[in-house]
Formats: sequence, C-alpha cells, structure tokens
Amino acid sequence: MDTYVSHLECSLTGEKYNKNEIHNLSKVGKPLLVVYNLDKIKKIISKEELHKINYNGFWKYSFLLPVDRDFRISLNEILTPLVNLENVKKSINSSGDIFVKDESYLPTSSFKARGLCLAVSMAKQLGIKHMAIPTNGNAGAALAAYCARANIKCTVFCPEDTPEINIREINALGAETYLVNGFINDCGKIVFDGKEETGWFDVSTLKEPYRIEGKKTMGLELAEQFNWELPDVIFYPTGGGTGLIGMWKAFNELEELGWISRKPRMVAVQSDGCAPIYKAWKENKEFADLWEDPKTVASGIRVPIAVGDFLIIRALNESNGFSITVSDDEILNDRDFISKQDGLLMCPEGAATFSALKKAIKQGLVSNNEKVVLFNCASGLKYPLSDVKSYIDKNKKVDYSKF
Ligand SMILES: *Cc1c(COP(=O)(O)O)cnc(C)c1O
Repeated sequence: MDTYVSHLECSLTGEKYNKNEIHNLSKVGKPLLVVYNLDKIKKIISKEELHKINYNGFWKYSFLLPVDRDFRISLNEILTPLVNLENVKKSINSSGDIFVKDESYLPTSSFKARGLCLAVSMAKQLGIKHMAIPTNGNAGAALAAYCARANIKCTVFCPEDTPEINIREINALGAETYLVNGFINDCGKIVFDGKEETGWFDVSTLKEPYRIEGKKTMGLELAEQFNWELPDVIFYPTGGGTGLIGMWKAFNELEELGWISRKPRMVAVQSDGCAPIYKAWKENKEFADLWEDPKTVASGIRVPIAVGDFLIIRALNESNGFSITVSDDEILNDRDFISKQDGLLMCPEGAATFSALKKAIKQGLVSNNEKVVLFNCASGLKYPLSDVKSYIDKNKKVDYSKF
C-alpha cells in the first residue's frame, strides 16, 4: 500500500466505511468522502519537498490521493496555468488581480479529466470492469478517454440536446453512447436502475467517492501556484458541485497539515435558468429542491438536482462565501468581451464566473482590490460560436476601403 487513506466516511452521518471495498452512496444515500491519515502525511512530506518534485501533473499530489502507485492512470495531465486578465481588469477599473485557472489544457479539454482520472484509476484498483455515467458532455468524454486507457468498458447517457461536438467526442473515444429525451437526472435514473442487470458501476457526480478527490487537486494546485497564500475569492460555476466541494476539502486538509493559514471565500455561480443551489442557499436551507425545466447555454451547470447540495452550501457558509446567478445574455456577452480583451476564449460556464464577479463587485459582495480566481472549466471550442458572414469573391475587385 502506498497511500495514506484511513477510511471513507458518510458526509452526513460520519459513519465509517472500508476503503478496500467498492462503494457508491452511504446507507443514508449521501456522498462518501475519503479520510486521510494527515499526521502520517505531515511526517513524510513538507511543502519544500513537494516543490522539488519534478512532475508536471496532478499525480504530483498523490500523497493526498487514494490510488496505489501501480493503478495510477495518466493521459499526461498538466498543472494548468493561471491566466491574468490584465486588459479585462483595467476595463472594469479593478485594482485586484483577476486570474483564470485555465482547465482547457487537460485531456479531453475539460476539468472533468481530474475527477474521472481518479475514478477510473480507483475502479482499476478495485477490479471494476464496466462503468456508466449520465453526462452533459464533458464528464462522458473524460470517462470514455480514461476507460479506453484502462481497458474498462464504458457506457454514456446524455440529454439529447447535449452539444453535438461532445456527443461525437464521447463516441469517438469508444464509449457506447446513448441520447436520452430528458435532463441529466433522467439519464442518472437510467444508470441507477440498470445497475443490477448490467453490473456496471455508477460514476454519477458524487455517487462514488473518488471524482471529488480528483477535483480536489484544483485546490492543491492553486495553493502551490500561489505559494500557499490563497487568493481572497474563488468563483466556481456550480453544477453538481464536485469542484467546489473538492477544493474546500483540499483547503481543509492543507490547513490541517499546517501548510496554509487562510482559506478563500467560495462562490457558487449558477445560471438564472437553473439555480437550485442559489435558491436553497438564499432561503437558508440545507438541501435544495429539484429545479423544474432547467435552461442555460452553460450546459455544464445545467444540473437541476445535486446529491451534494448540502456540502456545497456548507462550504459557502463555512468560507463566508455566497451563491449568485447570471443570465445567458450576460454569459455570452462576457465570453465575447474577454476573448476580445485578453485573447482567452472561455467556455460559457467559465464566462459565467466573470459575469458573477462583475455583479458581486456591483453588489458590494467583493471589493475591486481583492485577488480573485475564476475557472475556465473547458475549452471554448467545444461550444457553438457565432457564424461568420463576411465574404470575398476572388474574381471581383476587392474593396479595400472597408478594412
Ligand atoms: C461539469 C462542468 C461544470 C460543473 O462542475 P461541477 O464540479 O460538477 O459543479 C462546469 N463547467 C463545465 C464546462 C463542466 O463540464
């Protein structure tokens, strides 16, 4: 054994579970979280020793991850860059730095690679032969890619209006790919109901314990990239919330290791066409209701119900953060604005975090001298872009006066 996992624990009741068995949700139907033996980790590695590890990818943090060395699968993930939006910052009269953690550099061009790399690696270690997932696109592609690498059978269910490019990508990566006339939760029900008959393992968001450990590496990377002085606020486009919960878990583990002393405020950004977490947080509730008829161009956050709702809300409240919503118009305008200002074509979910920042500054929730991190969770090229209509006929005289 070369990990420091102590056991798994129910995120609601604290009940303990054996780390060597295959698990989905706890007995009360809530996510299981991995608990580490942090005292041991403290003794084997320091921040200084970590800096010296010459490995450009999140397996660098394997001492805080659950997979034994022999089962760590990799498609050459890299530590993703922090892009400083210098021109955008000037144009909104901000004196605080606005960084984008650009996750489009990961395999399959989205941060879903982090969670699914971990889930597939653990599945390999635990002897799982077939995995199935409901997805709005990016999770399916990442699962398909890592399953191909690990030689595990992969079955994917997407809402029929998932962006075409995602569906084709999943299929190209060898997954058995199905379109469903419903939303991601309808796809999730198909996966859940078929477990007995097919024997597949359900990799739905937070319904197995390891995707969150992969997403946790965003928090570990941020901490190291900022030299253990985390920024003031993190804006996260929140669907199932794995990333937000994962980063908060990372910060708590780092705090217990004594590597950081201050944690950022966490902000859950949602679309006003699908805002179950925002609504529950605003109403001071612990759990969220199903959002009827979810609509947004930001398909990654079109998640009408999240099994980790109370964990997202807990992280917002513990960190003194908040939830906020933005409209599709704001998202698309800001995507174009950032592209033209700073040359970074963000995905709509990523652009939503910038729309949310502007709104939060206006509402006095964030001051304009604070250091902020936004997330570009996927390549902007995976989404529909505007048509180009300007045309030149090579056989006619070109009218140069118009350029
Ligand atoms: C999945 C996804 C999200 C939401 O991430 P969660 O951690 O599940 O909340 C946001 N943006 C994109 C592009 C995604 O693929």
